[in-house]
Amino acid sequence: LTASLATLDTHLARFRDTGILNLIDGETVPAQSGATFETTSPVDESVICSVARGGSADVDAAAKAAARAFPAWRDMPGAERKKILHRIADGIVARAEEIALCECWDTGQAIRFMQKAALRGAENFRFFADRAPGARDGQMLPSATLMNVTTRTPIGPVGVITPWNTPFMLSTWKIAPALASGCTVVHKPAEFSPLTARILAEIAHDAGLPPGVWNLVNGMGEEAGRALTEHPAIRAIAFVGESKTGSMIMKQGADTLKRVHFELGGKNPVVVFDDADLDRALDAAIFMIYSLNGERCTSSSRLLVQDSIADDFLGKLAARVRNIRVGHPLDPATEIGPLIHKTHFDKVTSYFDTARADGATIAAGGERVGDQGWFVAPTLFTGATNDMTIAQEEIFGPVLTAIRFSDESEALRIANDTPYGLTAYVWTNDITRAMRFTDALEAGMIWVNSENVRHLPTPFGGVKASGIGRDGGDWSFDFYMETKHIGFAT
Ligand code: NAD
Repeated sequence: LTASLATLDTHLARFRDTGILNLIDGETVPAQSGATFETTSPVDESVICSVARGGSADVDAAAKAAARAFPAWRDMPGAERKKILHRIADGIVARAEEIALCECWDTGQAIRFMQKAALRGAENFRFFADRAPGARDGQMLPSATLMNVTTRTPIGPVGVITPWNTPFMLSTWKIAPALASGCTVVHKPAEFSPLTARILAEIAHDAGLPPGVWNLVNGMGEEAGRALTEHPAIRAIAFVGESKTGSMIMKQGADTLKRVHFELGGKNPVVVFDDADLDRALDAAIFMIYSLNGERCTSSSRLLVQDSIADDFLGKLAARVRNIRVGHPLDPATEIGPLIHKTHFDKVTSYFDTARADGATIAAGGERVGDQGWFVAPTLFTGATNDMTIAQEEIFGPVLTAIRFSDESEALRIANDTPYGLTAYVWTNDITRAMRFTDALEAGMIWVNSENVRHLPTPFGGVKASGIGRDGGDWSFDFYMETKHIGFAT
């Protein structure tokens, strides 16, 4: 831990000197107004550095730079774009330790997960780099009188707006396919975790990305974020964040008819039937809510467990939850670090009273850990019913609500009874039931007898209040590109 803190300190020194600045048209610049805000660490509430507080003038400069850079980037052969994107991946690998340390300090995520997240960012770039040469590939759909051809062209400059949870990995997931498609980008990262977005933009710059192709504007959602969604030069917005912010962005983008892709909140069920491999189901249920501080859109925050096994399963679960290690995010033994900031900490801990008031039982946790930083004990609510607030609202912390069910039809009714529909996890050894059940589940992504394992060519996204659209593989290109039809008379 001491060595990691010393290394982190050397990485942060330059940010303390200059603050985090924007990157517009290849230039590192402060906000035009000169305004700044501070980013603090959730570990001890200390100030990390100042950050440029971009506004509409900065977004305008960035969007215009992206528009100027677009034709040349669009027309660059895909094979050339592929090389540059691979160089960005190389740069991420070379600076992976710095990225992981900064991400932990800025967000409170545990180092054991952030090391992997940094490298996942590099994989995202390599995956889309390899697809860049074929991104424009179309189809021939001949008819009796026409040779019909479809092609794809990049939509233009796009805005990418990202949240504070695993911000580095999520930024790469959005920006890599945009660049591979031939789009140029203005990125507005979350105000609570700006460090690694700056490092990522530097890596891209150093990899030889032409000026204006990737612009970074820091700032508040209501200022820089809003301006980006309203800018006429920005053709589409890829957004990851809360459902209510998604709905605001849709309104803000209406006048300029923005194409939107939304990855929003979730209240995802993990459903455990009595015929499942219960040891594996227990491991997965724990991993999917208590890793990444539970600040994870795909987390399984509702455990639906069959009556016949519930007492035993919940007993073992509670014992395991009490043993999860909460600690300093840079300590390799830590499983759960502090929550991102005080407001979020207040929100998460408010559900402890809500659970009591609703009549649920706090079987583990339900309290703050320490008196400095935003640490909470991993928490398990039992005796809950699905109509309780703790079963309906996205808590977005290491907090699991367990609900019992008697049979398959009740499990299905409970699983689908939320406003959200991002992921679901089903544990059963009855393949026929698994097929029937998954077919009826209202969720964009479902895993059977597995935790969430991301395979990059598969579609990612949610239904209902969890999102609009899909990305991953070719679905990302569908979003960042226009499909054109041309009919040649024969
Ligand atoms: P948030 O919606 O508060 O903020 C996300 C981003 O939107 C930030 O950059 C913020 O500055 C910006 N923003 C806020 N108001 C805006 C506005 N009016 N116009 C434009 N931009 C605006 O979300 P958060 O609290 O940072 O992130 C947590 C949420 O993200 C959770 O709900 C979580 O489930 C969700 N999430 C979803 C996925 C997914 O893939 N479905 C992935 C990660 C996180």
